[in-house]
Amino acid sequence: MRHTTLQRIQRYLAIISFAVILVITLIGVRVFTKDYVKVLFGKQIALISGHAGYDSGAVCTDADGKTTVTEAGINATIAKLVAERLRRAGATVVILEEFDKRLDGLRADVLLSMHADSCIDNSGYKAARYFASLIGAREDELISCIDQFYPAATGQSFNPNTITHNMTDYHAFREIAVQTPGAILETGFLGGDQDLLINRPEVVAKGITDSLTCFFEQEQPRKADNP
Ligand SMILES: [Zn+2]
Repeated sequence: MRHTTLQRIQRYLAIISFAVILVITLIGVRVFTKDYVKVLFGKQIALISGHAGYDSGAVCTDADGKTTVTEAGINATIAKLVAERLRRAGATVVILEEFDKRLDGLRADVLLSMHADSCIDNSGYKAARYFASLIGAREDELISCIDQFYPAATGQSFNPNTITHNMTDYHAFREIAVQTPGAILETGFLGGDQDLLINRPEVVAKGITDSLTCFFEQEQPRKADNP
């Protein structure tokens, strides 16, 4: 009799312990799953590594005329670091070449092309979207997220004076599906921003990932409005 009572108490204690552990685990998962993981999980993200598969982009040389750095090399490093960060948060990421065939009719949750500006002694970043976009309002949200989070992470200033027609009429914008939001980002100048672009590319990658996280966060209430 006493034996069965003990067994019953043990069983209750086991059930209670299990329930307590389960609750603690669930609370832990909720608290420690960072917001950026929640919004990036399952997203289809296409990155263009500027000039990849085509040319070197800007080429900087030293006093002897030797190449010190190429834009394509910088872009490739940054694209790789951005992809790693996004994949860690559960996004599906594809890195495309400049004139990648997969751009034709590309459907993705976002396309971001990453370039860097010339070797002149200038500084700052800028982003642009397709001037004739059918989803300009949504893309403006992307640009506004970049304007908020890219300088915050990198310390880069906004350089509006050098946004060119090549950016607002960027070839890839006319190739991707009209529903795919797209933007092109010039991460900085190989001249004045060399320290950031060459020595601290992981900081650039953080600024880009933060910007994309912001962009997908903007999407959440919209979905709730139109279930
Ligand atoms: Zn470029």
